[in-house]
Amino acid sequence: MHYHVLTLFPEMIEQGMGTSIMGRAMEQGLIRLTATNIRDFSTNKHMKVDDYPYGGGAGMVMQAEPVYGAWKQVTESIGYKPRVIYLTPQGKVFQQSMVEDFAREQDLVFLCGHYEGIDERVLEEVVTDYVSIGDYVLTGGELPALVMMDAISRFVPGVLNNEESAEFDSFHDNLLEYPQYSRPAEWMGKKVPDVLLSGHHANIEKWRREQSILRTLHNRPELLEDAVLSKKEKQYLEQLRRNMAQEDPSPCEK
Ligand code: SAH
Repeated sequence: MHYHVLTLFPEMIEQGMGTSIMGRAMEQGLIRLTATNIRDFSTNKHMKVDDYPYGGGAGMVMQAEPVYGAWKQVTESIGYKPRVIYLTPQGKVFQQSMVEDFAREQDLVFLCGHYEGIDERVLEEVVTDYVSIGDYVLTGGELPALVMMDAISRFVPGVLNNEESAEFDSFHDNLLEYPQYSRPAEWMGKKVPDVLLSGHHANIEKWRREQSILRTLHNRPELLEDAVLSKKEKQYLEQLRRNMAQEDPSPCEK
């Protein structure tokens, strides 16, 4: 996987990707990162890349030509037009199903806006995907690009030591992950659930699946609509729902 990030702050991208699992994956050559400074493509003698918005209003807008120049350099260097993701609060909200889709690409371009955003005309020309990382507004697209690259890299083969760990994470099968425990077996008077110390793999697996269903029901019930559950697990879920209804009667039943 080769990430190409078009940004006014390449050092922010390089530093953000340079440590821990991402740093190791880059050293191993599993992922590549090229952060291109859009300012290098300014056509202005003062290297300016932004200007006032037509029609007035607050802030500055990144101009089309430097962004186009940076994008063109990437497409010429790799010899084809890859997917170009514009990070924007107006985009589709990023989620796990998109991660797995993006992870199949060979190259991905991330276009990071700043100030009030980017001239619409260059977006129309180069962008293939508009992606938001959530319903809030940040000062720039760099942190969202880092968030996306981190999540996508976990699906690049070899990036995680134990490939299984991506398989059982939250959102796989539309369920949240079960609770995790490590040594000691008792901490501040709290014991690790007995089943995890039993060594009985089938029971452990059953307990974990049930915990996943329970957590998802409590924290993110809407995910369960598309969860992949066995017949027994569906019965377990129905039982949980009945218990919850008894514990917390709706206002008209009170
Ligand atoms: N005026 C714009 C917001 C500009 S924020 C609007 O209202 O839509 C400046 C830049 O930060 C954007 O160009 C975008 O690249 C990035 N950004 C801000 N919030 C974001 C979010 N939630 N997800 C992804 N990118 C975001």
